[in-house]
Amino acid sequence: LVRLRQRLAGSQGGLGRSLLSLLSRDRLDEDTWESIEDVLITADVGVAPTQELVERLRTRLRVEGTAAGDPKAVLREELVALVEPTMDRRLQVSGEDGAPGVVLVVGVNGAGKTTTVGKIARILVAEDRSVVLGAADTFRAAAVDQLATWGERVGVDVVRGPEGSDPASVAFEAVRTAVQTSADTVLVDTAGRLQNKQGLMDELGKVKRVIEKQAPVTEVLLVLDATTGQNGLIQARVFSEVVDVTGIVLTKLDGSAKGGIVVQVQRELGVPVKLVGLGEGPDDLAPFSAEAFVDALLG
Ligand code: GDP
Repeated sequence: LVRLRQRLAGSQGGLGRSLLSLLSRDRLDEDTWESIEDVLITADVGVAPTQELVERLRTRLRVEGTAAGDPKAVLREELVALVEPTMDRRLQVSGEDGAPGVVLVVGVNGAGKTTTVGKIARILVAEDRSVVLGAADTFRAAAVDQLATWGERVGVDVVRGPEGSDPASVAFEAVRTAVQTSADTVLVDTAGRLQNKQGLMDELGKVKRVIEKQAPVTEVLLVLDATTGQNGLIQARVFSEVVDVTGIVLTKLDGSAKGGIVVQVQRELGVPVKLVGLGEGPDDLAPFSAEAFVDALLG
């Protein structure tokens, strides 16, 4: 939480400060409301959510006036509501009836999948869980090596195949290893080639099918780079159409002033942001909480 605050303070803090200074003007006239809208849209909150938020703020601050309370508290409440604080953000890393939990990690190349798999493994190992990693991004030797490095760093086994081997067979082997060794969780890193929807659907569909011959997939995490804006949202939509995404990991929030994307992607996909990436290091992954996120924004 402290780290979330620190990391966001640098990149997102401007958003909270701008909003608060606009709201503390003596007169909240049309120009001020427009400026508030601009600030929110620039932070990637999206047009419709921005309009809803501004409408709620206007009503509460103008109509209820001072009865609404301190503008900062009102803003905090409305921002938290926008981030949907009641969504269930727990990671499903445990299987049932002795089966391992199976977490499939999907997303376009460069979004931060491999790094996220390594960071999640580290958290699980710290909780004394036994973990197996599957390097099913077999199209890029670098991705497999990168995952192997994470495996060494974190101290977990990495199942890999020869370069160019079938991602589904690597995923199958990884889950088989997890079943045989009674591991708690297997994390499967997948390829993110978004050449066309059909190709992606065939590939991820096959990976999921072969895994489920052995154990149900308990979580499908879509990794999304927070700095990619509308483009990232379009990609997110494609992935959610080919596989049942159960949670979002928003990466590179440390280097982005676009934290508002949280609101848009949750609405777009109807699934919660569960984790946020706050840097390249092994500890730079935090569980997402609407309240902590908004507090970090507001400073
Ligand atoms: P993949 O292709 O989706 O597997 O992406 P990678 O895991 O290889 O990550 C791509 C690049 O983004 C690497 O240089 C990572 O170190 C970097 N990266 C991943 N997550 C974060 C994050 O939360 N913050 C920052 N600043 N960089 C990140």
